Parts: sequence; C-alpha cells; structure tokens
Amino acid sequence: MEDTPRHQGLRRRLVQHLSAKGIQDKRVLKAMEAVPRHLFVEPTLREHAYEDRALPIAEGQTISQPYTVAYQTELLAIEPGQKVLEIGTGSGYQAAILCEMGAEVYSVELERNLYEQAKKRLEKLGYAVRLRWGDGQFGWPTYAPFDRILLTAGTEKIPPALFEQLAEGGLLVAPVTKGFHEVMMRFRKSKGAIIAEEKGYFRFVPLRRFERG
Ligand code: SAH
Repeated sequence: MEDTPRHQGLRRRLVQHLSAKGIQDKRVLKAMEAVPRHLFVEPTLREHAYEDRALPIAEGQTISQPYTVAYQTELLAIEPGQKVLEIGTGSGYQAAILCEMGAEVYSVELERNLYEQAKKRLEKLGYAVRLRWGDGQFGWPTYAPFDRILLTAGTEKIPPALFEQLAEGGLLVAPVTKGFHEVMMRFRKSKGAIIAEEKGYFRFVPLRRFERG
C-alpha cells in the first residue's frame, strides 16, 4: 500500500473540484488533500478513488462520495482537540479526515468485518481513532459527552441516546431520511434545547440495528 505522486496529483484535482463545488473551509480541503482515499477502497476500485463518487465496500455498504464527506465535515466546524463521535465507521475514511483535522475521534461500526478491516487500516496508516464494534444508536456512553456527533447512515429519527451524549453547545450532523432521500440536518444543543437546520438533499445507506433472534 503506498501513496505516490500520481495519487497526490489526483487528490489535488479532487480538492479543486470540491472547492469549485462550494466547499470553503480550507482545513477541510487540506484534510481531503492529505488522506489517501485509494487506500480505503478495494484494490480493484483504486483507480476510481479520486472520482467524486461513492464506492462499494464490504457488506453491501459504501464509502461516501468525497463531496458528501467534505460537506458533512464542513458542517461539523471541527476545532482541534474536540471530541467527535462518528456512527458508521465503514472504511474508516471519514474518521481519518476528522483525525487529520485534529479531533479526538471515536467511531462505532455495526458490521464486525468492516470494524476489523477499518481498525487494521487506520492503525497501519497511523490514525489514532478509537473504534468500537456495536450498535451506534446507543452512542458510546463511556466517553460522552462529545463536542460533535456525525451519522454517516440515513435514519428517520435521531436515536435519543445521541442527543443525550452531545455536549452543551455541541453540533450533531445527520442525514435524516424523508421518502427516497436524506435531508442533511445540523442540530445544535443550546441550553438543553435542540435547534435544527436543514442543509440540502443527499443519498445514504440506511442506519440499521443488530438483528435479533
Ligand atoms: N463513514 C463511512 C461510510 C459508511 S456507510 C466511510 O467513511 O467509509 C455507513 C456505515 O454505517 C456502514 O458501514 C454501516 O455498516 C454502518 N452502520 C449502519 N447502521 C449502523 C449502526 N446502527 N451502528 C453503527 N454503524 C452502522
């Protein structure tokens, strides 16, 4: 696994594209330029890693489109040192971006196989992300409260545990399912109340629960 000048060139082009598409936060663009996305996808898909599209990963899941990752990260307005909880580790790419931005990152994944692959990958690349295999609807109470919480799978209702684990003044960004697409929502916890803003339409894989039985 390596990062070559060719990959770096492709990333610079991708970042120019994201900037032209409206991503303004320089720190987000810098993080996207730094993280080798081609090392988060299957070897056979590597040549597509710097196109602005979602790609399949194991277990029928996807690594989100670069624009979506940049957009969600920009909405989170991360400051270095903040505690950030991600629900849906998937490939680990979004977690690596948050790490590049100087956040202390916690991420929960439902699929054991994806959790294990992401753990190996992030360790190898030197990203110190705390990962957990489990149902993210319950958050990660041991490390709460979190300054920022990010959901990378669509859900009709934000699991209440996640609002509980959000710090006062904190932001939660999540794709909320309405019919056939997701509305990107940003919630702020202010004096205990939750203030919601709508931030455009996207498509996401659904948030699921552990199968019972
Ligand atoms: N952030 C990921 C994109 C992941 S797609 C990346 O950068 O690659 C959404 C992920 O959410 C999938 O991996 C899926 O398995 C996971 N997921 C779905 N429901 C979940 C739940 N209840 N708890 C934790 N993870 C969940």
